[in-house]
Amino acid sequence: MAGAAQQELKALVLIGGGMPKAYWYRAGEITASDLRPGTLVEVPLQKRKVPGIVVETGHPDLGFDTKPIHRVAPDSARLSAEWLELLRWISQYYLTPLPLVLQAGLPKAATRFLFHPPKRATKQPMEKSIMPVGKNLDPTAGQSIAIETISKSLESGSHGAFLLHGITGSGKTLVYLHLAKKALALGKRVLVLLPEIALTPQTIGRFESFLGRKVPAFHSGLSEPERRDLWKKIFAGEADIVVGARSAALAPLENLGLIVVDEEHDSSYKQNDPAPRYHARDVSLFRGKQAGCPVVLGSATPSLESYHAALTGKFTLLELKERATSSPLPEVEIVDMKAQQEMQGYQHLSIPLRDAVQQALDRGEQAILFLNRRGYSTRRVCRACGETRMCPHCAVALVHHRSTRTLRCHYCDFSISADSPCVKCGEHEMLDTGRGVEKVEEHLHKIFPGVGVARLDRDSVSRAGEMERILEEFKAGETRILLGTQMVAKGHDFPKVNVVGVLDADAGFGLADFRAGERAFQLITQVAGRAGRHKGSGRVFLQTYNPDSALLQHALKHDHAGFFRDEIERRREHGYPPFRRLLLFEMLSRKEEEVVKAMEVFALILNELAPQAHADVLGPAYAALKKIRNEHRLHVLVKGDYPNQLQWLADEAVKRFAPSQPKSVKLRMDRDPVSLL
Ligand code: ADP
Ligand code: ZN
Repeated sequence: MAGAAQQELKALVLIGGGMPKAYWYRAGEITASDLRPGTLVEVPLQKRKVPGIVVETGHPDLGFDTKPIHRVAPDSARLSAEWLELLRWISQYYLTPLPLVLQAGLPKAATRFLFHPPKRATKQPMEKSIMPVGKNLDPTAGQSIAIETISKSLESGSHGAFLLHGITGSGKTLVYLHLAKKALALGKRVLVLLPEIALTPQTIGRFESFLGRKVPAFHSGLSEPERRDLWKKIFAGEADIVVGARSAALAPLENLGLIVVDEEHDSSYKQNDPAPRYHARDVSLFRGKQAGCPVVLGSATPSLESYHAALTGKFTLLELKERATSSPLPEVEIVDMKAQQEMQGYQHLSIPLRDAVQQALDRGEQAILFLNRRGYSTRRVCRACGETRMCPHCAVALVHHRSTRTLRCHYCDFSISADSPCVKCGEHEMLDTGRGVEKVEEHLHKIFPGVGVARLDRDSVSRAGEMERILEEFKAGETRILLGTQMVAKGHDFPKVNVVGVLDADAGFGLADFRAGERAFQLITQVAGRAGRHKGSGRVFLQTYNPDSALLQHALKHDHAGFFRDEIERRREHGYPPFRRLLLFEMLSRKEEEVVKAMEVFALILNELAPQAHADVLGPAYAALKKIRNEHRLHVLVKGDYPNQLQWLADEAVKRFAPSQPKSVKLRMDRDPVSLL
């Protein structure tokens, strides 16, 4: 009789693999105290014995027979309750099944190697020798105040969220260094997140020379065995400081005394695919509360969310208003390209920018030029019939890459020869319109003959080590002009760069995304901040067809507060974050009709439930990118006020929709989406 007898102890065990799954097993001989969430076990699966992790225990009446657990691993291989709590929170908040969250948090084959530790240690990479410090810098007054304020939270072991708003070059890193040293001295652990770690080897170097020892870094350059070894070290409590990109936010670090999120506004902190679609900054804030430690969010251009939280007292605001080297911020000039065009016809570099670059070169200095478009031309058009070359799999134009003589899709990597004829009329002659960095590179060789130009974009650094080489050569002065996409706008500290040119300051304004303006302002401010960091007299040129735009006027005056005031009003008016919370539902299918119909059904369900969740439903509508990889994309955006209600709404809607969900249709949920495209 089901349910009548006391059910025996069972455990829900997660088994890894391509698609992780969880199954129930009975405890058999194993006692309850040995079998807790987080315990590693070996269980029978088909005819094999496989390792797994207990995610839940209980006495459920399943109505079917379960197999017994074979054995449990020693205590040392148990995942901690604290870490599991974190993963559970991610699972709940980001609407993702726990097995998928665990998969994101564990390296490949983790259950197997935790059970069967390798006999031979994997070869360790050669220990890098640590460069001694040049000189020890005394903190400026602003840096000292920040260090002291955050130290109070650190020393008392209480959580606090701090927004370190420091202008570009204000020396935010030195604040992190002092705090990290303090936390380590107290026997606590430190987690430092950097947006794109491969781009900032400098920062890791600074930590190493300040602490006088090697600091492990999680970055994309690590091989799988290196990544696994590092993870094991962290898991075993052998690493007391970890520097890493987004995924380091999930590392099983216990006893945290400090978390730093540098460049907290950076959109690379948000995971897109696969789920869980977490935001490393928000995960860090949860961890800070959990561990009772300060979380320091640093930026010269804080996100609207964080700055609002700081102004309303949720975060403590700490400001560094001057550059640490006491150089002034660069002088920004807006160049009206309409006027330039009338004078000289179309040129990539306006006359003032070209002159300034030439003068910098003459003085032995360097320049950075920024254009956020890869390739040679962004559109290739048939000369005979005017047809644009489109990706056959995505609703986007192909990009002409002259260096590889290909037309490429930036969404699905489809590529064909640049010489292939027009699909409509067979014509071979093509016209290139819309410039990318490759075209500008060609132009620079023409106007600055003999000058070393380095191009930094995803294409030029596709091979390992290329990025470091490009940055090192530029730092050493072997190349004099660094031209690139947003990669050049990251935290680089090149003392000889005194001129920065933003070739198209209007790019990104028109995007159908409520964050487009914020992102444009951040990029412009960040790239401008590369100029004149050490000698002063930096100059920045913003080339634009909208010289009067409020956004550029704020950038001209380095006026983040002014930009914030304008932007926050628009957010309030339209009910966007930080005022309301967003949940983006996306449906994808190769079958357009099915996905359109399914989305209508789903939106109907959402509309029925929305009043109870005090939420508003926008859509359905085609996504701005209507088709990617042959999948048609539809969006519904939900705005709500309370996280729990949005969660309830999502759970309930998915449950009600499930019976009518066609097989061909995928449903994707994105909590606090960063991009709505
Ligand atoms: P941010 O990250 O805020 O843009 P950095 O941390 O890169 O700034 O520091 C900018 C420059 O200022 C670096 O070259 C750094 O060595 C220098 N610097 C930082 N703090 C000081 C200080 N207290 N005194 C002198 N120079 C400093
Ligand atoms: Zn494509």
